[in-house]
Amino acid sequence: MSDFAGLKALVTGGASGIGRATADLLAARGARVAVLDRDVTGVGKPLLAYRADVTDDTSVRTAVERAAEDLAGLDVLVNNAGIGAQGTVEDNDDTEWHRVFDVNVLGMVRTARAALPRLRRSSHAAIVNICSIAATAGLPQRALYSATKGAVYALTLAMAADHVREGIRVNCVNPGTVDTPWVGRLLDAAPDPAAERAALAGRQPTGRLVTAAEVAGAIAYLAGPLSGATTGTALAVDGGMQGLRLRPA
Ligand code: NAD
Repeated sequence: MSDFAGLKALVTGGASGIGRATADLLAARGARVAVLDRDVTGVGKPLLAYRADVTDDTSVRTAVERAAEDLAGLDVLVNNAGIGAQGTVEDNDDTEWHRVFDVNVLGMVRTARAALPRLRRSSHAAIVNICSIAATAGLPQRALYSATKGAVYALTLAMAADHVREGIRVNCVNPGTVDTPWVGRLLDAAPDPAAERAALAGRQPTGRLVTAAEVAGAIAYLAGPLSGATTGTALAVDGGMQGLRLRPA
């Protein structure tokens, strides 16, 4: 497929997991792709790599500008960089709440703010925010993380409304539990990683973890020309977790 031929995309957090799978998929489908990450180790051709931390507005602006210059434009922003947090409201103090909101919510605001002037010049402009089933599912032990993703969901709808008349579509993807290095680190820290993996898989009606490639496919759909009439939506990629309302297997 070469449906992204001629399009230029920027993927934040594109050095690992969902972001890397997305960058590789968009490149394979013909896009010129830049990755913005705080650690760009291992990102090579055909991807362009820009080191920046989404909590630092200056570093984001510089990286987005450089990427847009090197790509000779920008059509697609995939806002994917994010971090996890566990626990109830009693388990994390204000400092931790600010830290995680700074990455997961303000990080997306900063990259969008930097990218919007470029996206306005595109005739195929799309933003895809990586949200989570945590935004709406009421997961236990995920108060802070869920609150950040709830904010990402609301931000997606508001941005879609603000920019629709400018021809910029804004959607989000809501993954379930995805087999990425992040989840690998969580499993490694569990007392029994194999049992924990089975428990996470069993929580999804399909009985397995989602793959990063499956999330990338949904992101590519929302970023590409086939979804030209779609804006202000959330696409679940969660093994049926939310839509089917089934008890865990
Ligand atoms: P990952 O840890 O494998 O990759 C995240 C990438 O983001 C890394 O390359 C990391 O360096 C980068 N990053 C983190 N903080 C950054 C910062 N401050 N500035 C720049 N780059 C930064 O994680 P993943 O599982 O691929 O998750 C990617 C996104 O998907 C996140 O937004 C996450 O909330 C979301 N998500 C993941 C899952 C899952 O189960 N893995 C489920 C739902 C949503």
